[in-house]
Amino acid sequence: MSVTEDRVRTSGGETFESLSPATGEVVATLPVHSEAEVRQAVQLARKASQWWAGIGFDERKKRLQSFAGVLTRRREELLELISRENGKPSVDAFIEHLLAIEHLDWAARNAQRVMKPRKVAGSMLLANVKPILEYQPVGVVGVIGPWNYPLFTPMGSIAYALAAGNAVVFKPSEFTPAIGVWLADAFATVVPEQPVFQVVTGFGETGAALCRAGVDKLAFTGSAPTGRKIMAACAETLTPVLLELGGKDALLVDADADVKAAAGAALWGACSNAGQTCIGVERVYVVDAVYDQFVAELTAAAKDIRAGGDKPVIGPMTMPKQLDIVREHVEEALDRGAKAIVGGRESVRAPYIDPIILIDVPEDARVMREETFGPVLPVSRVKDLDEGIERANRTAYGLGAAVFAKKRGYEAARRIRSGMASVNSVLAFAGFPSLPFGGVGESGFGRIHGEDGLKEFTRPKAIAQQRFSTPAEMMSFDRPAWLPKVAARLGELKYGRRGR
Ligand code: NAD
Repeated sequence: MSVTEDRVRTSGGETFESLSPATGEVVATLPVHSEAEVRQAVQLARKASQWWAGIGFDERKKRLQSFAGVLTRRREELLELISRENGKPSVDAFIEHLLAIEHLDWAARNAQRVMKPRKVAGSMLLANVKPILEYQPVGVVGVIGPWNYPLFTPMGSIAYALAAGNAVVFKPSEFTPAIGVWLADAFATVVPEQPVFQVVTGFGETGAALCRAGVDKLAFTGSAPTGRKIMAACAETLTPVLLELGGKDALLVDADADVKAAAGAALWGACSNAGQTCIGVERVYVVDAVYDQFVAELTAAAKDIRAGGDKPVIGPMTMPKQLDIVREHVEEALDRGAKAIVGGRESVRAPYIDPIILIDVPEDARVMREETFGPVLPVSRVKDLDEGIERANRTAYGLGAAVFAKKRGYEAARRIRSGMASVNSVLAFAGFPSLPFGGVGESGFGRIHGEDGLKEFTRPKAIAQQRFSTPAEMMSFDRPAWLPKVAARLGELKYGRRGR
């Protein structure tokens, strides 16, 4: 049966439009999939998942690598759609595309190594039994994604879930739905037999329906408040969840750092993608000895950076309501005595925001505690790196972090309470398919990317296979009376002297 026959069709009901954030033009008109339609998609996916799991690692690898080929050959078309629907400059879309392909290829190449059956350590008492561990696909994975990296972010779940042998039903953000539909259509050209990767479109209700539609795992990337709702919905059916949520990432600069490099990285980490990056730099702590130099370098680097224009390096804000949040954070900080050394209130000019750099911001201001998600950077002075670490950790979030230092960079990176950290660079950890990606606290739990990311979409299967029978079986009513005594003696020899 072909995908077109098999694919979920809307009942001809409600539709919605996705709009270009820069021009307001209609990019696509798409169905608002109902609860029944989402359930139907999951049912189709159930059958497809059995077929997909059955074709084996080699064939899946071939298909996923062909998918990477299609994404590469049709790159310009996809980048143009990302720029139009999300608003980001083409070069930002290109970086996202490059990373997504790397992850897709890594997942395809490594799934078998990570999941295949392996013999694990044996037991003295069960010497006749072989313990085998393997990882099996969970079945159907529901993926709900955000709009800020409409390709890279969902692919972190989709590619790894598919490589692990699952079918996927993806609900893209209502701000970037056409990109999701484009991806599923491109995938269907390399896997035409079954609807292994489907897309349902709509708003929060469609996402909520996916949580309740009988998926075997739900991978969510988005904000912490929505993450809570997802977890509550999934709790009704004991559906396991993976939550990739927001962040308030700090960048630390020590006295021996390359200050110019730190300033350039802080600016790019805070302002690229218009600051709408979950692992973007949202706070900077600089040790006293290099604070003035850092502020001077940062101000100089930011001088000519503007949003919009003919060849934009910063695009428009994708979501109109985010402009209000950014404005509120900046105004509250300024009203409470902060100083804007680059930009200011006037930098928020819908749909664009020019870079805003703040100093002397009270530590309890919203811009220091809540996700701002705009090109805004508060810079604070600290006495030393230890104070920087302590203040970086004063947040409920814990996604990424960065440290610029020569001697103590690695040590500080380890001490920051976050799922990821970069030393002498920003955001670098996201570029390694072999490194797990995810957070702690309000930033969520579970991991995408790497071995952990593959295992996230599997269930471990433990098998103990008896190879030969023994005359004296401990786990039997026929066990000889001497056997427990021998086992007790062996235990004493092995553990009895410990801790004396
Ligand atoms: P959001 O939480 O508003 O929406 C995310 C998705 O959830 C959308 O598809 C939306 O339709 C859906 N949704 C909304 N309500 C729902 C409900 N009740 N049930 C099910 N689904 C529902 O987030 P957003 O504004 O699209 O994305 C921005 C956020 O995502 C930021 O907080 C950012 O930090 C975070 N993010 C995190 C990562 C990461 O990997 N940790 C990556 C990118 C973005």
